[in-house]
Amino acid sequence: MLCNREIETMTRAEMTKLQTSKLQKTVKWLQEKSTFYQEKLDKLGVRPDELELADLTGLPFTTREDLAGHYPYGLLTFPLSAVVRMHTTGEAVPVAVAYTSGDIGKWLEMLARSLVAGGLNPTSVLQIAAGYGLSPEGFGLHYAAEVIGATVIPAGDLEPLEQLKQIEDFGVTFLAASAGQLLQLAEAARQAGIDLQALPVSTVYAIRTQVETGLTAQLAELFRADVIEIYGVNELIGPGIAGGCPARNGLHIQEDYFYPEIIDPVTGVLKAEGEFGELVLTSLGKEAMPVLRYRTGQLAALEHAPCSCGRTLVRLRV
Ligand SMILES: [Zn+2]
Repeated sequence: MLCNREIETMTRAEMTKLQTSKLQKTVKWLQEKSTFYQEKLDKLGVRPDELELADLTGLPFTTREDLAGHYPYGLLTFPLSAVVRMHTTGEAVPVAVAYTSGDIGKWLEMLARSLVAGGLNPTSVLQIAAGYGLSPEGFGLHYAAEVIGATVIPAGDLEPLEQLKQIEDFGVTFLAASAGQLLQLAEAARQAGIDLQALPVSTVYAIRTQVETGLTAQLAELFRADVIEIYGVNELIGPGIAGGCPARNGLHIQEDYFYPEIIDPVTGVLKAEGEFGELVLTSLGKEAMPVLRYRTGQLAALEHAPCSCGRTLVRLRV
């Protein structure tokens, strides 16, 4: 099932055209509105209207330190009156991310694509075990699932045993939580002698901020359920930048909203298709805090070959 057929099955030529146009607008906006990027871009003599995707390699990277150093409002390109929500990464040195209502809409669209890829539909009962708070997971999942029309059980504040009872009481068919919370649930069930595999859950969404192999298979075995990973970089936007599909063949990047590059983590030079390196993301269309070439610190490779699920969006492999 596809959430946005036009975008998710776009030809490469159409996607490149869309990305180029969004990149030009983003850079133009930053040149006009961002004190952080203005000087850097002007020094390089960047002319947004002439930018091609390949020219990104000539633009500066943005690091976590850059974002944390401007906490909480330093990178806003809109007045605070246009910001409808703030989330943070929740660490000791946090990064704050501001959302206009337009940004919220874009985020929910990205997240909904991954939820639909896992089969969520209006007949589904989805329990959200992820936290609702400054961290973006719970609120993002909640509203994206409501847009799809699923029945949502907001259970982020419950202890693991209460979560398990709730799953039974409500006949929960879809469960969403961070990967760590899912493992905690499984351990709580084991200790209490509850048969996890007898629960009605058929699909589990595992929210990740780190990409690594092996966890999907482990969760699939523990819950005897389909597992769809949803990857996010909370320094940029909530979860949903990339998500799994029924083909289990890497995570499709929502590349109409975030343009990915893979670089050599030491030299910063662009890697070729299929080569592993550091994932770098540029926001395309983010309004309140657009970011150029953010270094995620995650090692991955990109694959453009067609996926058997029908999506043409580039896949992130780890
Ligand atoms: Zn696929």
